[in-house]
Amino acid sequence: TPIVPELPDTKGLQRLDTAHYLHPFTDHAALAQKGARVMVRGDGIYLWDSDGRKALDAMSGLWCVNVGYGRRSITEAVARQMDTLPFYNSFFNTTTIPAVQLAAKLAKIAPAGFNHVFFTGSGSEANDTNVRMVRRYWDLAGQPERTVIISRHNAYHGSTMAGASLGGMSGMHVQGGLPIPGIVHIEQPHYADYGAGMTPEEFGIHAAGWLEERIRELGPDKVAAFIGEPVQGAGGVIIPPSTYWPEIRRICDKYDVLLIADEVITGFGRLGTWFASDLYGMRPDLITFAKGVTSGYVPLGGVLVGDRVADLLIKGGDFNHGFTYSGHPVACAAALENIRILEEEGLVDRVAHDTGPYLQQRFGSLAAHPLVGTADSLGFVAGLTLVRRKAANVHQQVRFDPALGAGMLCRAHMFDNGVIMRAVGDRMIIAPPLVMTRDQVDEMIQKIRFCLDLTL
Ligand code: PLP
Repeated sequence: TPIVPELPDTKGLQRLDTAHYLHPFTDHAALAQKGARVMVRGDGIYLWDSDGRKALDAMSGLWCVNVGYGRRSITEAVARQMDTLPFYNSFFNTTTIPAVQLAAKLAKIAPAGFNHVFFTGSGSEANDTNVRMVRRYWDLAGQPERTVIISRHNAYHGSTMAGASLGGMSGMHVQGGLPIPGIVHIEQPHYADYGAGMTPEEFGIHAAGWLEERIRELGPDKVAAFIGEPVQGAGGVIIPPSTYWPEIRRICDKYDVLLIADEVITGFGRLGTWFASDLYGMRPDLITFAKGVTSGYVPLGGVLVGDRVADLLIKGGDFNHGFTYSGHPVACAAALENIRILEEEGLVDRVAHDTGPYLQQRFGSLAAHPLVGTADSLGFVAGLTLVRRKAANVHQQVRFDPALGAGMLCRAHMFDNGVIMRAVGDRMIIAPPLVMTRDQVDEMIQKIRFCLDLTL
């Protein structure tokens, strides 16, 4: 049974929080008005706060708690490793048992042709690693002028200088003069925004064509790589048409541009496959991972390096890059146990064949709500669009101006009524723990519907 802590003094904690804690992505003046909600415990798909209120966590924390909260076997694996060897690095000709075992395990579950991994502490660091790694690759390949990386507007690739530059969030770019040189953006494959007059399949080809246009503009011999999330997550769960990634792959092949799949969200079962690259036939050269690799129990990220890049990198001598916590033994021990749970409980298959299709059907039923335009999902990510006027054709719906805050209002109702969802402009999104059962899907949908009614 989980340990239930004594309820702390919420007001006291909130005062300290306001006085000392700078939160990520937060308007502190607004937060100080209401005080942060203090989360104290998790079990399965549920969380409890310091006032004893229970919430169904439809976001898996931040898209990461794939095996759910309260997994004692991960705690034990971590404790064992801490007792034995809490830290050692893999610099200077050393390695550790969990890091080796995890690298070998990842090579087994990764798509074909991925036999090496570079560990980092987070997804942002992994994408920074990608920038340095692809430039190093092209140096070694005798084409050092290939330095530009193409990404997409509304993408999220992290918060470091390179991560935020690769990302396409304008709100991040305006603070700090981003993107850094050598990173450019094309439009995202968002059918509702740009696909009027086309079928989704036609639009997928059309949207991939923006990459070819940009490669030609820049000059193919200048372009090092293209990076994309298989399904854009933080941008609002934008699921691309099925034709998009195969066409992107074709274009990358044509111009010999490396393809990076940022699978920080989509990896480790979220879409019903170990990696979405497999689902979409992307055949990437590099894969970014983090979050679900440890279900968020301990920070860990990394880059799965495909054979083409790994072979040259290995032949090329020192790659002068790495972090103190690259391959942290405690994080790797947590990841090994997390992956063992995903395998033993068949969670990836369950999302593919059972709870994922069930979620699709139940979440899709929300499209009948007067406030909802579209409601779509893939595996265990889903998003709905809040609209002012409904129409059968997505391009004739009148969407809410995000500045009017319908999403924020809806999110606040969810927060107060025991279900945690996220608002991105006019999109309400979820990414539940993969352990969620069919009954729990029903419970979540009923709560979401109740809160949509309150938002009307
Ligand atoms: N890439 C994607 C697709 C993400 O969703 C995120 C985080 O949400 C990151 C990278 C950055 O990962 P981290 O927050 O661990 O640095």
